[in-house]
Amino acid sequence: MFKKGTKLYSILTGTCPKCHEESMYTNKNPYNLSEALSMHEKCSNCGTKYKIEPSFFYGSMYVSYGVGIGFAVAAFIISHFVFEAGINIVFASIIGTLVVFMPLILRLSRNIWINLFMHYDKTLAKK
Ligand SMILES: [Zn+2]
Repeated sequence: MFKKGTKLYSILTGTCPKCHEESMYTNKNPYNLSEALSMHEKCSNCGTKYKIEPSFFYGSMYVSYGVGIGFAVAAFIISHFVFEAGINIVFASIIGTLVVFMPLILRLSRNIWINLFMHYDKTLAKK
């Protein structure tokens, strides 16, 4: 399930959606905030242009809404059902989770967004 050739691999590792050979981002660590969203223009392995049209990644904002909800629900379940915290603590933990995971959420949504439009191509991968 989690290997090269699956969309999940490209989404979770942030690799090129077509060949899965190299990272789309100039810095692999999303918590280097100044470079969190800085991406290569195209893949050095297969030459795929990531920004297929101007402002392409604005669309990932729609995805980040959904991804953010996912993180918020997870924070709610953990703080409410596991730690049985009060309503204020639950609220704070949801906000805290969204802030702490923001760089990760942004990248995940970009990865999901670009993978909606591009598909893995075996012939482009390194032999
Ligand atoms: Zn590539």
